[in-house]
Amino acid sequence: MTSASQINPAERILMGPGPSSVPHRVLRAMSAPTLGHLDPQYLAIMDETCEMLRQIFRTKNALTFPVSGTGMAGMECIATNLLEPGDEAIVGVNGVFGTRMKDVMERCGAKVHAMEQTWGESFTLTQISGALEANPKAKVLGIVHAETSTGALQSLEGVGELCKKKGVLLVVDAVTSLGGHELRVDDWGIDAIYSGTQKCLSCPPGLSPVSFGPKALEVMDARKTKVQSWYLDVSMLRKYYTGGGGGGRVYHHTAPINMTYALREALAAVLEEGLDARIERHRVLHLRLRAGLEKLGLRYVPSKSLHTLNCIHAPEGKDEALIRHRLLEEYGIEIGAGLGPMAGKALRIGLMGHSASVRNVDLVLAALAELLK
Ligand SMILES: *Cc1c(COP(=O)(O)O)cnc(C)c1O
Repeated sequence: MTSASQINPAERILMGPGPSSVPHRVLRAMSAPTLGHLDPQYLAIMDETCEMLRQIFRTKNALTFPVSGTGMAGMECIATNLLEPGDEAIVGVNGVFGTRMKDVMERCGAKVHAMEQTWGESFTLTQISGALEANPKAKVLGIVHAETSTGALQSLEGVGELCKKKGVLLVVDAVTSLGGHELRVDDWGIDAIYSGTQKCLSCPPGLSPVSFGPKALEVMDARKTKVQSWYLDVSMLRKYYTGGGGGGRVYHHTAPINMTYALREALAAVLEEGLDARIERHRVLHLRLRAGLEKLGLRYVPSKSLHTLNCIHAPEGKDEALIRHRLLEEYGIEIGAGLGPMAGKALRIGLMGHSASVRNVDLVLAALAELLK
């Protein structure tokens, strides 16, 4: 056992699949005095945080708030509130997170039809339309916008219209796209969406921003059974987060006060930079990294790559684990390994939020060039 009075973690450059590096202003905001969760000062900070989330999700949805917990809590929250035992759902499975969404929805008692695609590829509108035709009883279609396990970007344009025509709710995982990729909740007809704080928002992990549209609210209000999860039951949570129900704010669970300070500060940083400018920064830096990696002879896994996560085949004849180890120990840079069937076969380099900079791109390229010699 160490007797040190303080922990003393190294200042890593976080270029993996999340968390991304957190700016000092966000860490400072977290250390502000803790308020009570019903203190009017705190409620004002919470309301402001939800309003900033609406701007960044590009939505007018009143029910937009940060769920207590990481991105997976957001996934569970949406699944458990929208689905009842016996319901049917379609989930796009082309990586780890689509696989998880199917599992989570099945645990809610739903019959889930997998819409499958090769890992690294995305779904076409024709394929999505076919899945909707083949499963006319589906209540929900779940799809991952940014599949962090393979680095593939899923286009969502037109998907909302297809779902609307069939009366199916569109549920989107935007954990690795919110704040880094073009994302329009209202324009794209997304009914429910979840994200996380530690990816492109560059806030520590701990909250999961979610947003529910009017059709999702209708479905939740018409439930015949109680939501299986007490902690994630939105019918109770909304009385706290939106003060809905006429009775003012009602205690459900103690909000993670200092995490809210951090998220508020991280969202302020996004809006100060400008959402469009930030999305453009991610695009330009992805192109810079991509050009450098290809010069080193490295090849991308997905046909249509994310800007926020670059998944490349592990260099032939090299030990990929040793490359990651040496990047961390010698350069202080964290990158990610392959996940699931791609374990040992891929490297994942994140360019998310505060970590997406010219300095970091050029540094990781120089380090890789040295390690690949
Ligand atoms: C990271 C991630 C999650 C899970 O988020 P946690 O914060 O680790 O719980 C879900 N979906 C995608 C696409 C992710 O990248």
